[in-house]
Amino acid sequence: MGQSGYQLKKCQQEDHNEQIETICYNQQCTDFRLNCSKCEERFHQDHYNDVLRINSLVGFIKDKNTECQNLISDLKTFVEIMNQSFSQLISGI
Ligand SMILES: [Zn+2]
Ligand SMILES: [Zn+2]
Repeated sequence: MGQSGYQLKKCQQEDHNEQIETICYNQQCTDFRLNCSKCEERFHQDHYNDVLRINSLVGFIKDKNTECQNLISDLKTFVEIMNQSFSQLISGI
Protein backbone atom coordinates (compact mmCIF):
# COMPACT_ATOMS: atom_id res chain seq x y z
CA MET A 1 0.00 0.00 0.00
CA GLY A 2 0.96 3.61 -0.17
CA GLN A 3 2.35 3.30 -3.68
CA SER A 4 1.66 6.35 -5.73
CA GLY A 5 2.96 8.08 -8.79
CA TYR A 6 4.30 6.65 -11.99
CA GLN A 7 6.33 3.47 -12.03
CA LEU A 8 8.12 1.91 -14.95
CA LYS A 9 7.70 -1.82 -15.40
CA LYS A 10 10.41 -4.21 -16.40
CA CYS A 11 10.73 -5.40 -19.98
CA GLN A 12 8.62 -8.43 -20.98
CA GLN A 13 11.52 -10.11 -22.79
CA GLU A 14 12.91 -12.79 -20.50
CA ASP A 15 16.53 -11.98 -21.22
CA HIS A 16 16.07 -8.25 -20.59
CA ASN A 17 16.38 -6.69 -17.15
CA GLU A 18 15.91 -3.10 -18.31
CA GLN A 19 12.85 -1.01 -17.54
CA ILE A 20 10.34 -0.25 -20.26
CA GLU A 21 11.19 3.00 -21.96
CA THR A 22 9.26 3.12 -25.22
CA ILE A 23 5.78 2.36 -26.52
CA CYS A 24 4.98 1.40 -30.12
CA TYR A 25 1.59 2.57 -31.33
CA ASN A 26 1.88 1.37 -34.92
CA GLN A 27 -1.41 -0.39 -35.77
CA GLN A 28 0.21 -3.06 -37.95
CA CYS A 29 2.92 -3.88 -35.43
CA THR A 30 2.98 -7.45 -34.11
CA ASP A 31 5.95 -7.08 -31.76
CA PHE A 32 5.77 -6.27 -28.08
CA ARG A 33 4.41 -2.75 -27.72
CA LEU A 34 6.27 -1.97 -24.51
CA ASN A 35 10.00 -2.03 -24.97
CA CYS A 36 13.23 -1.35 -23.15
CA SER A 37 16.36 0.20 -24.63
CA LYS A 38 17.63 -3.27 -25.64
CA CYS A 39 14.42 -3.99 -27.56
CA GLU A 40 14.84 -0.81 -29.55
CA GLU A 41 17.75 -2.40 -31.38
CA ARG A 42 15.64 -5.42 -32.43
CA PHE A 43 12.05 -4.28 -32.97
CA HIS A 44 10.06 -1.55 -34.72
CA GLN A 45 12.91 -0.70 -37.08
CA ASP A 46 10.64 -0.26 -40.12
CA HIS A 47 8.25 2.10 -38.29
CA TYR A 48 10.55 3.82 -35.88
CA ASN A 49 8.54 7.05 -36.08
CA ASP A 50 5.62 5.30 -34.37
CA VAL A 51 7.65 4.57 -31.26
CA LEU A 52 7.22 7.02 -28.41
CA ARG A 53 9.43 7.38 -25.37
CA ILE A 54 7.37 6.93 -22.21
CA ASN A 55 8.90 10.07 -20.74
CA SER A 56 7.55 12.15 -23.60
CA LEU A 57 4.22 10.32 -23.32
CA VAL A 58 3.94 11.38 -19.68
CA GLY A 59 4.64 14.95 -20.82
CA PHE A 60 2.00 14.56 -23.51
CA ILE A 61 -0.61 13.43 -20.97
CA LYS A 62 0.33 16.28 -18.65
CA ASP A 63 -0.11 18.74 -21.53
CA LYS A 64 -3.55 17.28 -22.24
CA ASN A 65 -4.44 17.60 -18.56
CA THR A 66 -3.42 21.26 -18.63
CA GLU A 67 -5.52 21.78 -21.74
CA CYS A 68 -8.50 20.19 -19.98
CA GLN A 69 -7.98 22.40 -16.93
CA ASN A 70 -7.91 25.46 -19.18
CA LEU A 71 -11.07 24.33 -20.92
CA ILE A 72 -12.83 23.76 -17.59
CA SER A 73 -11.86 27.21 -16.31
CA ASP A 74 -13.03 28.73 -19.61
CA LEU A 75 -16.37 26.96 -19.16
CA LYS A 76 -16.62 28.21 -15.56
CA THR A 77 -16.03 31.77 -16.76
CA PHE A 78 -18.65 31.28 -19.44
CA VAL A 79 -21.19 30.00 -16.89
CA GLU A 80 -20.45 33.02 -14.65
CA ILE A 81 -21.06 35.40 -17.55
CA MET A 82 -24.29 33.55 -18.33
CA ASN A 83 -25.38 33.85 -14.69
CA GLN A 84 -24.58 37.58 -14.64
CA SER A 85 -26.50 38.17 -17.87
CA PHE A 86 -29.38 36.15 -16.52
CA SER A 87 -29.42 38.14 -13.26
CA GLN A 88 -29.37 41.39 -15.21
CA LEU A 89 -32.20 40.10 -17.38
CA ILE A 90 -34.30 39.12 -14.35
CA SER A 91 -33.65 42.42 -12.50
CA GLY A 92 -34.61 44.26 -15.69
CA ILE A 93 -38.03 42.64 -15.87
ZN1 LIG B 1 13.56 -5.41 -23.71
ZN1 LIG C 1 6.17 -1.65 -33.47
